[in-house]
Amino acid sequence: MNPPDRKALIESFRAAAHRQIDQWVDQQVEMLTAQNIPTLRQMSDQFMQTRATLLGGCLQEMATRLTASYRHQELARCPHCGKSLKRHSVNAKTLHTMQGDITLERPYFYCRNCKVGFYPLDEALELAEEAYQYDMQEKMLRLGICHRRSETGLKTAV
Ligand SMILES: [Zn+2]
Repeated sequence: MNPPDRKALIESFRAAAHRQIDQWVDQQVEMLTAQNIPTLRQMSDQFMQTRATLLGGCLQEMATRLTASYRHQELARCPHCGKSLKRHSVNAKTLHTMQGDITLERPYFYCRNCKVGFYPLDEALELAEEAYQYDMQEKMLRLGICHRRSETGLKTAV
């Protein structure tokens, strides 16, 4: 990426992130204007409940920008036979991550010779096939292990 393009990308993301912060601040108005000051616990809980607005929104903005060339891709080579393929369709997918949900439009390619379909964007981002992405899967696995250990009475720090 050349320096002007890099600068434009950074500034575009900065502006988008600022809009996400504005939305998130709007969610804090009730707490900021409450009659009694909230406890630190209440403030922390409120941040946990609303963090997906901010971080999920920023993740969406970053992923959308970094995958622009993939999302507009119209041609691809079959990874098996090398045939040039035209885009078959564009399919949106909602992805659950530790930062919140994001949705990406993914061009789909299908090779009739090999009877194989693929999403180059999914490969570039190393997406999990499931809606729950690898960070969520690992978290759920750790929680599952923790839960099973607590059933057996073993103490573990996860
Ligand atoms: Zn092929």
